[in-house]
Amino acid sequence: MRDRLYIDGEWRAPVRGGTIPVFNPFTEKVIHQVAAGGPDDVDLAVKAAAAAFPAWKRASGSVRGRFLSAIAARVRERKDELARLSSLNNGKPLAEALIDMQDVATSFDYYGRLAVELDREQDAAVQVPDSAFRATLRREPIGVAGLIVPWNFPMVTTSWKVAPALAAGCTVVLKPSEVTPIVELELGAIADEVGLPKGVLNLVTGLGPDVGAPLTTHKDVAKISFTGSNAVGARVMAAAAQGPKAVSLELGGKSPIVVFADADLDIATECVINGIFFNAGQMCSATSRLLVEDKIAPRLMERVIAAARALKPGDPLDPATTLGPLTTRAQYDKVMSYIARGKADGLDLILGGGRPEGLGTGWFIAPTIFGDVPVSSPLWREEIFGPVLCVKTFSNEDEAVALANDSDFGLVATVVTNDKNRGERVADAIDSGLIWINSPQVIFVETSWGGFKASGIGRELGPWGLDAYLEVKHKTRRLKAA
Ligand code: NAD
Repeated sequence: MRDRLYIDGEWRAPVRGGTIPVFNPFTEKVIHQVAAGGPDDVDLAVKAAAAAFPAWKRASGSVRGRFLSAIAARVRERKDELARLSSLNNGKPLAEALIDMQDVATSFDYYGRLAVELDREQDAAVQVPDSAFRATLRREPIGVAGLIVPWNFPMVTTSWKVAPALAAGCTVVLKPSEVTPIVELELGAIADEVGLPKGVLNLVTGLGPDVGAPLTTHKDVAKISFTGSNAVGARVMAAAAQGPKAVSLELGGKSPIVVFADADLDIATECVINGIFFNAGQMCSATSRLLVEDKIAPRLMERVIAAARALKPGDPLDPATTLGPLTTRAQYDKVMSYIARGKADGLDLILGGGRPEGLGTGWFIAPTIFGDVPVSSPLWREEIFGPVLCVKTFSNEDEAVALANDSDFGLVATVVTNDKNRGERVADAIDSGLIWINSPQVIFVETSWGGFKASGIGRELGPWGLDAYLEVKHKTRRLKAA
C-alpha cells in the first residue's frame, strides 16, 4: 500500500508532512496511513499537469488511445489484487469489487477507442447555407482537469473521469476520497508501468478542505469534475465560478422503483434487492423508494423480505458474503440515525432496523425496510445512502408517476411491468437521467450517466463523457475574396 503523493511521475512526501488513517470497515481497525496533501502539493501537481498539457494535447488520439488501452490491460492483469484492496478499504464484497475492476478496464478501453475516433473527426466540414464559406469543426482539450471523487465506488468513479479526460487530451490532478485512497494510488503505479508521460496524471490524497478546495480555486485548473454530496457540490460550483471553470457535478439521488401489478415478481424482486442492497445501499443510484401497485404489494413484499433475509453479511473477503459493512463509522451513524427517526416517528418497520446478529466487529446494518412511509418523512425525501428501503403503494399509473417525480432528485429510476407500452410511457414520464425497464442496475459505458434536477449537472460515460473535457472550435473560411 502506497503512502505518498504521485506528482510529475514521482512518489513524493507531502510538503508539510502529515498522514491520514485509513480503516478496514470490517475490522474497524486502521490498516494504513496515507499522505495528507495540502495546498502546496495541489500547486505542485497542477504545475506538473500544466507543463505536461501542451505535449499531451498535441499527441494524436491514437497515441493517447494506446496508453488508455495499456492502462485497461494492466487493470485486468491486476484485477484480483486491486479488487482485494478495494474490498479491504471500502468493505464491499469481493465479487462486487471484481465487477468494479471489470468496469474500470472497460472504461479505459472504451475511451481509448474514442480518442482514436476523435482524430478522425477533427476538421470535419460543417454545413453552412452560403457556398462562399467553408466551416470546419475541431474539438480541443479544455486544459488541466481537477477530478474529485467519493468513496462508494472509488475506482469506477475515478475511471469515468480519468479515462475521458486523458482521451480528450486533458492532463489530470485526481483527488481520491480520504476514506478510500488505497486502490486509486495504484493508478499512479499503473501510469508508471505503462510509461504515461510525467505530469499527465497526478494524484494528491488528503482532506477535502486541504486538497479538494484548493483544486477548485487554482487558477491553472480549467475544468472541475466532481462526484459527491450536494452540500460539497454546491461549494465546488461556487468556487469554480471565480475562474470561471467548466464544472460537471454528479450528486445525490433518492430514486424510485415502480412495480406494476402485471410485473414478473421474480424480476421485480431482483430489481428491488439489487437497487438497494448492492454495495450496502451506498449508491447514488440506489432505488430507495419502492412504489408498488396495491394489488400485488403483499405478494411482492413477501418475496422481497425473503430475498433480503437471504443476504449474508460477513467478511467482505469471504466469497460467501453478499452484504458488507458500511464504509465509514460516520456513514453507519448517519444511517442508524435515519432508522431511529423512522422508529421514533412510528413508521412501520417491516424488516431489520439495526445490526445483523452474530457479527463481532464491522459497521454492519441489516437490510431494513419501512412500509407505508409518508411522503413528508425525511426517510422518503432524503438520501440515506445505506441499506434502507422505503415502501409505498399506489393504485394507478398517474399516481405512480406523480409519486416517482415528487423528489428534488432525478438520477435514475426503475420500472417493472410486462406491458411494453406502459414501460416506455412511464419511463418517458419520469424525470431522471437513466431509466431501467425490467432490469437490474446494468450500466453500459456507451450510455450516459448523470442526473436531472438536484442530481447534478452534465453527463459522464458515452461520448457525452468525452465532451465534458473538450472545447469546441469552429473555423470559418471565406473561399474567395470578393
Ligand atoms: P463528499 O461530498 O463528502 O466528498 C466527495 C469528495 O469531495 C471527497 O473526495 C472529499 O474529500 C471532497 N471534498 C470535501 N470537501 C471539499 C471541498 N470543500 N472542496 C472540494 N472537495 C471537497 O461525498 P462522499 O460522502 O464522499 O460521497 C457520497 C455522496 O456522493 C453521496 O451524496 C452520493 O450520492 C454521491 N455520489 C454521486 C454519484 C453520482 O454519480 N451522481 C456517484 C457516487 C456518489
